[in-house]
Amino acid sequence: MSRHPKPNNMHGHKARKRFGQNFLHDPYVIGKIVDAIYPKDDDCLVEIGPGMGAITEPLLEATGKLNVVELDRDLIPILRTKFFNYPGFQIHEGDALKFDFSQLVNDGQRLRIIGNLPYNISTPLIFHLLSHHTLVQDMHFMLQKEVVERLAARPGTSDYGRLSIMTQYYCKVELLFVVGPGSFNPPPKVDSAIVRMTPYKELPLVAKDTKMLQRVVREAFSMRRKTIRNTLKKLISAEQLQALGIDTQLRPEVLTLEEYVRISDAVSQLTEQAEKDNGIE
Ligand code: SAM
Repeated sequence: MSRHPKPNNMHGHKARKRFGQNFLHDPYVIGKIVDAIYPKDDDCLVEIGPGMGAITEPLLEATGKLNVVELDRDLIPILRTKFFNYPGFQIHEGDALKFDFSQLVNDGQRLRIIGNLPYNISTPLIFHLLSHHTLVQDMHFMLQKEVVERLAARPGTSDYGRLSIMTQYYCKVELLFVVGPGSFNPPPKVDSAIVRMTPYKELPLVAKDTKMLQRVVREAFSMRRKTIRNTLKKLISAEQLQALGIDTQLRPEVLTLEEYVRISDAVSQLTEQAEKDNGIE
């Protein structure tokens, strides 16, 4: 890509592929997104990747205050000019993947995070935000439809996997609606969808060690077509799985989050016991 791409919109900015720039231009879809967010005056709204302000504008009109995190420095002056008359508009220039969202929390008020996200950062960004789940009231993201289906998938479906389990451990996940490529400029090659993720104030299931849960789920899905006794044999024996009431002949994609937490807790306990036996504290 040229360092000085030709402009393709009225602001003189050319959409950059490497920043995943597909700008929303469809007023009907923008209206539906804002309705789904339902912004309120005292909300602490944060938008990731405001671009040229398609969603930013109605959010600012609704609440008068908004923090945005934008990586493309060429967009910053466009945003500053467009929203100069909103004193509550704060731009943070930088990478959302490295951004410390806790700095935006004021008086303990949790964040409402919004973004039409670049596809290449969507999964790492969701994991980054889940690690701060206690700071977040809710998240509304436009993502590749396929990713939203994986986030919201239920056990027993082909979309169900590591992303579904780890997200649903922390959040309620809802696919709100699908958006076709024609609503963007330039149009992406695939369908998109809006997802709402609402972190639980109190987790319905609590693993002893979430790192262990992540490890168990990663191992389990390393070979989707094998049985759980095979994929997990490095961590736990078939007999131990049976003692937990787990059918060892099942494939990883049919086990529920509750069953993964049960296995993870047992593996944590086995590891603790082995460390004690070996004199490691
Ligand atoms: N919100 C705008 C809209 O709906 O038209 C733009 C959406 S566009 C799909 C993604 C936006 O995220 C772009 O403005 C892009 O520059 C920005 N972006 C890309 N990578 C980013 C990152 N790591 N951190 C923050 N913003 C990023």
